Amino acid sequence: MFWQEVKLELDTLRQNNLWRQLQEIKPLSPTRALIDGKEVVLFCTNNYLGLTHHPEVIKAAKEAVDEYGAGSGAARLISGHNSLYVQLETSLARFKQTEVALVFPTGYTTNIGVISALVGRKDAIFCDKLAHASIIDGCLLSGAKFFRYRHNDLDHLERQLKNASSYRRRLIVTEGVFSMDGDLAPLPALSALAEKYDAILLVDDAHGTGVMGEKGRGTVFYYGLKSERIIQIATLSKAISALGGFVAGSRLLIDYLVNKARPFIFTTALPPAVVATAQKAVEVMENEPIHWQRLRENIAFLREGLRALGLKLPPYLTPIIPLIVGEPKTALNLSQRLLKEGFFIPAIRPPTVPRGKARLRITVSAAHTKEEMEMLLDKLARFTEK
Ligand code: PMP
Repeated sequence: MFWQEVKLELDTLRQNNLWRQLQEIKPLSPTRALIDGKEVVLFCTNNYLGLTHHPEVIKAAKEAVDEYGAGSGAARLISGHNSLYVQLETSLARFKQTEVALVFPTGYTTNIGVISALVGRKDAIFCDKLAHASIIDGCLLSGAKFFRYRHNDLDHLERQLKNASSYRRRLIVTEGVFSMDGDLAPLPALSALAEKYDAILLVDDAHGTGVMGEKGRGTVFYYGLKSERIIQIATLSKAISALGGFVAGSRLLIDYLVNKARPFIFTTALPPAVVATAQKAVEVMENEPIHWQRLRENIAFLREGLRALGLKLPPYLTPIIPLIVGEPKTALNLSQRLLKEGFFIPAIRPPTVPRGKARLRITVSAAHTKEEMEMLLDKLARFTEK
């Protein structure tokens, strides 16, 4: 009975074109890979600065294995906290201009860990409806009263906050750059609401870090915000090209998390090569602004080309460009056609995005060449003609 039920659930997913399966690839560069032996261009990664293949970053990873070994051997609070971690957390705090930073094993566990540590049953969370699954899971796990406000709708949020003075703590949670739509959260207004209603504003800047603001410091910097009420979270897995997540804030916050955040405490530290990769990538981001500049140029180029095809784009210079087609089947078909033409852009379907909003999520990297972008535009022009 158990497995029959499981199979039925899967069959339903398949019938609704929501079945997910893994696609094996062999990476060749930040923007190229082999799929079934054929070379394709990737317009789907979060490798925004192309640092996965930066020679200095690769060298740092190799050296870390030689010097520190392949694995970390224990949790951070046991013997997993080595000097590479100290260096990385110092660099991340400098990059985000906060007192300190704390690295978690992934961006996913950072959100779960931070949110569930900071609020509990006596508290209330106010979360944007389009927030990432890891944020939602953190909110649910915390046991706090969970309010979801309509995407970027400040009036809706304020109505919820007005009625929430009886809760012990109030936490507003948003992404900086939204992962599936590429638009920005109105952080200045959110920060003002946090001030007005005595709340803390948690910004998951997974897609703004390395991308927005000077040197890619993030969306908080893009807006020029400084506030003790803001907590910045980001991943090491996207522009920073490694694995892991981090939170940047005050000493008080970090001390609290080290003692309270279960996904930090009860898991093994990252392998040395991963920590060294992230450290070198942050150094590169600070010392070689050319990657960030190239990313800006590529975003502008691709957006201009897409606009010329008649596409309506959100008015933000972010590397995430959604091509919303509606139904899952339509998205799957378009993705398949592009793959045949040498472009890998998987279909994004519910529950990752709302029903009726299936899409191709095009992402652009500093490592894309003009030719690669022109080729994609050419294919899309032909597909949208028919
Ligand atoms: N937050 C957001 C907004 C994300 O898009 C993602 C990854 N897709 C995560 C968190 C999780 O990060 P990681 O992949 O490092 O676990």
